[in-house]
Amino acid sequence: MVAKLIDGKAIAAEVRQAVKARIDERRRKNLRLPGLAVVLVGQDPASEIYVRNKVMACEEAGVISHSYTLSDDTTEAQLLDLIDKLNGDSTIDGILVQFPLPEHINADMVTEHILPDKDVDGFHACNIGRLAQRRPSLRPCTPHGIITLLEHVEETFYGREAVVVGASNIVGRPMNLELLLAGCTVTTCHRFTHHLEEHVARADILVVAVGKPGVVKGEWVKPGATVIDVGINRLENGRLVGDIEFDAACQRAAWITPVPGGVGPMTVATLLQNTLYATEELHS
Ligand code: NAP
Repeated sequence: MVAKLIDGKAIAAEVRQAVKARIDERRRKNLRLPGLAVVLVGQDPASEIYVRNKVMACEEAGVISHSYTLSDDTTEAQLLDLIDKLNGDSTIDGILVQFPLPEHINADMVTEHILPDKDVDGFHACNIGRLAQRRPSLRPCTPHGIITLLEHVEETFYGREAVVVGASNIVGRPMNLELLLAGCTVTTCHRFTHHLEEHVARADILVVAVGKPGVVKGEWVKPGATVIDVGINRLENGRLVGDIEFDAACQRAAWITPVPGGVGPMTVATLLQNTLYATEELHS
């Protein structure tokens, strides 16, 4: 078997186009346009690129973006004050604080300070709790974007064996909740999991989010599986690769995401979806 590629770029473009069409309609009806505040603290070059991409995606879709670039020595109290101001601003539907934050700022404190109905990253305990209780509101962008990818290739989620490798707060854990909500039987593996290959070999749907190239061997993949590689790793030669041995996995999987061009584009597209959702469903 040679796997077919799941084209994240094309699917993300469809999602962004659908968001744009709804925003164009709001403009025609003289309704308020969605507003997103993007907050960057410090000068991490990778974060600067992520923020620039998010702002450009907003502009293209018609979301009004408000950028706040703060210096490295911004105190936690100053950042929380800004979030208070944005929480109270009725033109702002979503607040995104780009991580990582400088070490002197408590990231959990910042996440919990954003009003849950403006938490377009979906990381607030309230939004994770709602997802866990099958009453999702704003959902973490990367896992929800992966569900959108899977909907393009899976006939059904009900009863499928799904295995998630990686258990971080932003990808692995909410991915588990998304797949459970969709009707899969879900296993989550992490650094203390024994016999990783035995779990991987059971997966009809495999999602890997670890951040280590080759952590999942291609020969472990179940024939006919759908394989989602979330990892982004830059090799010494400059090449970007995922967490799964891509060529070997392609010999066994039915569907697989490339890196780059798979999951990555879905994260920004889902952020725009979340911002529109906040405007239409939470702030109208
Ligand atoms: P993270 O916070 O470092 O979490 C990594 C997870 O992998 C942890 O749960 C860790 O277990 C687990 N782990 C570590 N070694 C393992 C092993 N040998 N076997 C099984 N599990 C292992 O990373 P993250 O933020 O979730 O991101 C993971 C990767 O996805 C990174 O490459 C990141 O760049 C990428 N990413 C991509 C996107 C996108 O839009 N494409 C978005 C987010 C992240 P413990 O919990 O036990 O420590």
